[in-house]
Amino acid sequence: GTAIFWFRRDLRVHDNAGLYEALKRFDCVIPVFVFDTGILAELPRYDRRVDFIAQALEVLDQQLRSHGSALHVGVGEPTKLLPELVQRYGAQAVYTNGDYEPDALQRDAVVERSLASRGVTLHRFKDQVVFEKSEVVKDDASPYTVFTPFSRKWKKQLTPFFLQAYPSERYAANLARSEQLQLPAQRPDLASLGFERTDLQFAPPRIARSLLAQYGAQRDFPAVHGTSRLGIHLRFGTGSIRALAQQAIDGSEVFLNELIWREFFQTLLWHFPKTVTHSFKPAYDNIVWRNNEADFKRWCEGQTGYPLVDAGMRELNATGFMHNRVRMVVASFLCKHLLIDWRWGERYFAKHLLDYELAANVGNWQWAAGSGADAAPYFRVFNPTLQAKKFDPDGAYVRQWVPEFGKGDYPAPMVEHTEARARCLQVYQRAVKEQ
Ligand code: FAD
Repeated sequence: GTAIFWFRRDLRVHDNAGLYEALKRFDCVIPVFVFDTGILAELPRYDRRVDFIAQALEVLDQQLRSHGSALHVGVGEPTKLLPELVQRYGAQAVYTNGDYEPDALQRDAVVERSLASRGVTLHRFKDQVVFEKSEVVKDDASPYTVFTPFSRKWKKQLTPFFLQAYPSERYAANLARSEQLQLPAQRPDLASLGFERTDLQFAPPRIARSLLAQYGAQRDFPAVHGTSRLGIHLRFGTGSIRALAQQAIDGSEVFLNELIWREFFQTLLWHFPKTVTHSFKPAYDNIVWRNNEADFKRWCEGQTGYPLVDAGMRELNATGFMHNRVRMVVASFLCKHLLIDWRWGERYFAKHLLDYELAANVGNWQWAAGSGADAAPYFRVFNPTLQAKKFDPDGAYVRQWVPEFGKGDYPAPMVEHTEARARCLQVYQRAVKEQ
């Protein structure tokens, strides 16, 4: 029989759960990716993430061609295109991997219904996480809201079974032959979608054993290349989480914990989808933010007068990446020193981060604002100057991004730390006490 496999956040052939399941059951599997015009319309014409996807699709197409198949790339609304493709290819089923973001769930529900009306089932598999949905919950089946017990349970439940690769290649003969595919005359590329080439260079997702060995000691220093930079690969599934988790288990407990943070936030979003727009702790939605537009602009542009904050924002604007330590500092500075709503910062990061991922971004922003599950207590306000001393002790990171610092042409701090801290505590206290 014939089935469609719909690629989304899983742009690889190897160790792809849903693809494997489709290939095992059907002898003609059509590999499909859809550029969702609804999503593309919202993005700037120069967007490294769209370029990343375009380059990842090239690689995926090559992987499929090495098995005699090819990738059918469609452009449009998946809710319309999928039923059309099902009809065109006479498919009996559509296979895909789960996406747990609220918008994706809604889209999938529409696709599912319209396929069902044609007698075709949408089958979803777990692929981008080791544990999904309610697989890691408390003994009474309620969700965890604190990381440490979540991670303990995660580790306790882990058996080799959960990290086994899905050997899709074994059934590669069941991929539709390229000549069976009704490919568009020209495969959609960046230019045909109206996007520009960017400076992004697609590199395969690899992590050196030496990096893992040093990860615990080096991961907090932004001047050092001490973290994996695999965020974007995990976002789009160009690497397998199972393989990476296995490497972490063999190489670095600290790194494994970061992967578990990722699943903690995905699980939280699954159970508490409202937290995309609402504080996890409701009292924090009573905070009377200052939301000063001019202040926000200075933060966005890296002109706050705090060199570590400015270095981070400039790195983000220039490259799409920011080191985790610096993300924590700039986020805390926005919410606490400037009293600007965490949602403004969350949206700014969403536009600019290469590794932008809804669950992690919302979870970490709420952590920084103090409003989240297992967040830092609100009265702990990072001192950006001390953070710089501690984590950029010889100033190498600041020099790279704020070369004018200490040489004159650099703004004075836009708020004084002690005053800003006192103002923040007052405003937060008022909100939290109202409950
Ligand atoms: P590594 O240190 O090498 O970690 C490996 C992987 O573990 C990461 O790629 C990521 O998938 C996961 N991970 C690590 N730390 C976290 C964390 N705190 N929460 C969730 N997952 C984690 N991460 C995102 O993937 N997308 C986001 O949109 C995002 N927004 C953030 C916003 C703020 C305000 C903060 C403080 C952190 C945010 N993070 C986000 C978490 C973290 O900063 C990045 O995952 C990390 O810096 C990416 O670099 P890396 O791949 O080199 O990470």
